[in-house]
Amino acid sequence: MSSQRKFFVGGNWKMNGNKQSVDKIIEFVNKDCVDPDVEVVVGPSAIYLDYVRQKVNPAVGVAGQNCYKVASGAFTGDNSADMIKDVGCEWVILGHSERRHVFGESDQLVGEKVQYALKTGLKVIACIGEKLEEREAGQTEAVCFRQTQAIIDCIQKSDWANIVIAYEPVWAIGTGKTATPEQAQEVHEKLRKWLKEKVSADVANSVRIIYGGSVNAGNCKDLGGRPDIDGFLVGGASLKPDFITIVKARK
Ligand code: PEP
Repeated sequence: MSSQRKFFVGGNWKMNGNKQSVDKIIEFVNKDCVDPDVEVVVGPSAIYLDYVRQKVNPAVGVAGQNCYKVASGAFTGDNSADMIKDVGCEWVILGHSERRHVFGESDQLVGEKVQYALKTGLKVIACIGEKLEEREAGQTEAVCFRQTQAIIDCIQKSDWANIVIAYEPVWAIGTGKTATPEQAQEVHEKLRKWLKEKVSADVANSVRIIYGGSVNAGNCKDLGGRPDIDGFLVGGASLKPDFITIVKARK
């Protein structure tokens, strides 16, 4: 039952913001997004992780948007899970479609990053999702299962307690084209059934599968009311007070 899984809303700020706009987001998050029934996590750009962690309410998690698969070394421009943890953050978003499709990250690299981040003690929002041409070719499930399998191959069953899966159809991210509640529910339900076979019934029942892709204040209630949609990963709307409405979608 969805009610056993705590509703989860993550804000992916992407490569946006400056200290002034970040302060404004922190202000409405601290004022209106702290809710014992909802796990809220914000994901600023790496530059602002430390700053946000210090200023946002401790009940709100803070996530890096990416990290590499080793602790340190000659990887110019990258950040490690250890660094995200060192500045007090709890989460990292991995496998976001922009990492996969703009920066060319493979399923295997995403799996290795998830493995390393979990080992470091971070919790992971692991993103999966099909491109438009893949959906049109009837490959939605195959793509989502393949991307999830690459993660399964790198982790232990016990790690699932620290993972949230974000189903984010690539064609719905930042496009204003949201998956219908029926389309999203169908993928979430199939993925949960598949996890039951591939991992365990316990993991399938307890893992939160959240939806991402043009979620806004207007569509969040209908999406959030579906039994297998356990929350959202929100891009554009997480920069605005609309995020408050999305956090309260189940209220
Ligand atoms: C995202 O970046 O994860 C996302 C879902 O973006 P948007 O809400 O802007 O579509």
